[in-house]
Amino acid sequence: MPELPEVETVRRGLVPWISGQRIQKVELLLPRLIKYPSSAAFKPALVNKTLLDISRKGKYLIFELDSHRELIIHLGMSGRLILGERKASLPPHTHFILRLEGPKDLLFIDPRTFGRIALVEKNDYSPVPGLNQLGLDPTHPDEYQWQKVQKIIQGNRPVKSFLLDQSALAGIGNIYADESLFRTGIHPLRKVAELSLQEKKRLFKTIKEVLEEAIQSGGTTILTFMDSRNNYGHYQNLLQVYGRDHQPCYQCKTLIEKIKIGGRSSHFCPRCQKF
Ligand SMILES: [Zn+2]
Repeated sequence: MPELPEVETVRRGLVPWISGQRIQKVELLLPRLIKYPSSAAFKPALVNKTLLDISRKGKYLIFELDSHRELIIHLGMSGRLILGERKASLPPHTHFILRLEGPKDLLFIDPRTFGRIALVEKNDYSPVPGLNQLGLDPTHPDEYQWQKVQKIIQGNRPVKSFLLDQSALAGIGNIYADESLFRTGIHPLRKVAELSLQEKKRLFKTIKEVLEEAIQSGGTTILTFMDSRNNYGHYQNLLQVYGRDHQPCYQCKTLIEKIKIGGRSSHFCPRCQKF
């Protein structure tokens, strides 16, 4: 699933291409991807509007328009946004197309169809509950401050489950949760309430570092991720634990283990990450 660094990579790739482009036509091949408003109201509200910029909150892309609305896209499990040549045939699983006035169109491709699209009034995210209740984004310096994180980094659940909770911290999925915990030397099953202040502070700092390094690497490609210009990410080459079960830890040679926590697989080194 694309996590914060992959979504940010997509955003950075798209902005220079779509900024200032007028939407000439909207094609909706899988209407159920539109969560708000109805697909009948969706199209006319986009046609002839101009795309100005794209921002991001957690894993949500927010397209700013020259109207009072914003287009929200969540890539789900396998969604991709690419720029397609007008004349080229559509790639398989293309479900949504913005025909732009330039030579390229914006295509949303999503084999597993867990992607979500909405068109909301500017800054009113109530029709998109996940976005409306989104927690602090570790890459937004105004939001991600120790004073704020300190208040939410508590509770009796495993630290891995805390990291995946989008209403606490936004944008972290399995890959970057596992990598952040390895780098801080914290076992994923440790209860948040039992972490020392020093461990919490180290985790706070490490999360930001890991996400920023992954953005610099163009994200992680596991199976399918590619950015808007069909480039693979490179962070998979830097992963220390994620997807490395039964392989030796780079630090201590102990075999990396994989367990389930809250239904999600967790990779960790039993020696470097003390319980
Ligand atoms: Zn180790």
